[in-house]
Amino acid sequence: MPAELIDGNAVSKKVREDVRARCAALAVRGVVPGLTVVLVGEDPASAVYVRNKEKGSREAGMNGATIRMPATTTEAELLAVVDQLNADDAVHGILVQMPLPKQINAQKVIRRIDPAKDVDGFHPVNVGKVLIGETDGFAPCTPAGVQVLLKEAGVDTTGKHVVIVGRSNIVGKPMASLLVQPGADATVTICHSRTPDLAWHTRRADIVVAAVGRPGTITGDMLKPGAVVMDVGINRIQDPTTKSGTRLVGDVDFASVSPVASKITPVPGGVGPMTIAMLLLNTVRAAEQRAAGQGA
Ligand code: NDP
Repeated sequence: MPAELIDGNAVSKKVREDVRARCAALAVRGVVPGLTVVLVGEDPASAVYVRNKEKGSREAGMNGATIRMPATTTEAELLAVVDQLNADDAVHGILVQMPLPKQINAQKVIRRIDPAKDVDGFHPVNVGKVLIGETDGFAPCTPAGVQVLLKEAGVDTTGKHVVIVGRSNIVGKPMASLLVQPGADATVTICHSRTPDLAWHTRRADIVVAAVGRPGTITGDMLKPGAVVMDVGINRIQDPTTKSGTRLVGDVDFASVSPVASKITPVPGGVGPMTIAMLLLNTVRAAEQRAAGQGA
């Protein structure tokens, strides 16, 4: 029997509806949440993400703005823009789209963002809050979205063994921080490119989270029957049978995994739509916290 699909489009719609209602409640108090995205350079994938973020924030009833800067922007120029946004009361959320051009130190830029406006959840203050289990900070949007998807799909992580494949700061590590907290109560293993015998680990997992950036990394023979599979990967591969000649796939070999797993997120339409929804949720929370006078 094929695995049940976890519908990221439906769950992200629910999150966006919640955000819209919370924006409407803030509007009554004269507060319009503002999300400003800064895009440096002309990376085409980043341009698409940024357009979607601006569109999503407007649809939710926020002030969505994008600041576009040339690829030749210096680190000092970008830091000056971040300083302006930090000081701007109409801005509740700041997102600097990654990757940045080589001349700019991304970590320095992330550290410059006011943690109370860091809706991407990458500032060390927010990373630390997630790790120590303080919930007034901002968790990174993609792993937070995976956690919401698990809940909405009725997957209780308590006492479950979750194997996360990938240890990046934006997905793998914060995913582990979230799932190991009391309340989520999972037992977590993190694997990466230096892990010998990846399949040995994944076969022991009740839940596998794949965040590798390599199509077909997880195959059906690497899973315990009935495992839940969350595919974070977004990879564009050649496919001459499609009109464009390419197609999006995850990190999981869907064809071999679906008959073995109990539930699986499809790509596209699984984890992907959750990321922007969680960004909007973080932004409305930032505005609510400011309105309540408490900052992150
Ligand atoms: P990174 O490239 O930063 O990290 C990939 C991780 O996978 C690394 O930790 C790497 O190990 C590990 N890895 C690579 N090859 C193997 C292997 N053969 N076996 C085990 N581990 C391996 O990627 P990201 O975390 O940024 O993204 C992962 C995927 O998720 C990408 O496809 C990306 O496009 C997608 N993504 C999707 C988002 C969404 O909204 N759905 C948002 C963000 C990312 P090591 O550290 O040793 O190099």
